[in-house]
Amino acid sequence: MSHKAPEPGSGMPFARAGRSGLVLPRLSLGLWQNFGEPTPFSAQRELVLHAHERGVVHFDLANNYGPPPGSAEAAFGRLLASDLRGHRDELLISTKAGYRMGPGPYGEGGSRKYLLSSLDASLRRLGTDHVDVFYSHRFDPTTPLEETIGALATAVSSGRATYAAVSSYSARRTTEALAVADDLGLPLVLHQPSYSMLNRWIEVPDASGRSLLDVAGDSGTGLIVFSPLAQGMLSDRYLDGVPSDSRAARSASLRPEHLAPENLARIRALRDVAAGRGEPLARTAVAWTLRDPRVTSVLVGARTTAQVDDNLSALDAPPFTTDELTAIDAVTTE
Ligand code: NDP
Repeated sequence: MSHKAPEPGSGMPFARAGRSGLVLPRLSLGLWQNFGEPTPFSAQRELVLHAHERGVVHFDLANNYGPPPGSAEAAFGRLLASDLRGHRDELLISTKAGYRMGPGPYGEGGSRKYLLSSLDASLRRLGTDHVDVFYSHRFDPTTPLEETIGALATAVSSGRATYAAVSSYSARRTTEALAVADDLGLPLVLHQPSYSMLNRWIEVPDASGRSLLDVAGDSGTGLIVFSPLAQGMLSDRYLDGVPSDSRAARSASLRPEHLAPENLARIRALRDVAAGRGEPLARTAVAWTLRDPRVTSVLVGARTTAQVDDNLSALDAPPFTTDELTAIDAVTTE
């Protein structure tokens, strides 16, 4: 049976990616974790369909999401062929290539050989003839940038991707990538960096003298920021130990040193700021990443539909007062 699309006016706000024609929901769902084989397909299905019903029309993937690598795309492809059949054009689907996906020199990096064969494999797993956004997942210092960005241009001109984008490139490398793309007549509509109250690198100028926020703002590139909850740390989850169903208990991506006493002290102080706003910390954390107009969308992860709903409630959070922002800065900037 076909799944119900979000009602028009479901309340989801949208924002434009920089100066492009592309608009994104202010909150998007990433399928990095909780979409591999350890999670039953029924749970994956429930999460995606619930998010979609609530107006989340952007789903972010990468070739290597799972585990095993490829299984998140395969699971999403199953949904596209069943519950989401008929909804393809209402959805914004992204994928990426850059991290290790297969053996040998053609299984990772930024070469044309790897990026285009990986994109073809992603399309096969997803069962669609195009993705909406294709990312270079990370800068590859061993490949000329002209080759990496040229492969993105081919992805777009061949119709396999509608838009091209980069992820986790520094301000300097983003400036270089934008110049190469400009020469090719290719708009880079989005950049996907990490960003949270515990990870504010995009605000800080790098060796080029500029911050990624400034590069994105000046060039008209949208930012879609990932891990706004610092993988779950910016919540109440870890304040009394490590719950057995948590990411820290399951996945190597959240390591014990992340939960060192200094970090937990910061998290407690941030929880107090959130409490002053009458909010749980997770809601404040998601809302905070959206306070800068250069951020188009925030890319959350979720393991349960309740977490999806909690994170969506951040879109209705009140604006931050100067005092609240100062208190957050005092805890999160050295
Ligand atoms: P988050 O920071 O949102 O972390 C998600 C985790 O936080 C969940 O799995 C859950 O952990 C916990 N959580 C979520 N909502 C709540 C809540 N309301 N209250 C309490 N805990 C909550 O983001 P992710 O690290 O998952 O990243 C999001 C997406 O960003 C990815 O799926 C991917 O699409 C993208 N990404 C991109 C990268 C890149 O290199 N471009 C790298 C990493 C991510 P628990 O399971 O413990 O309950």
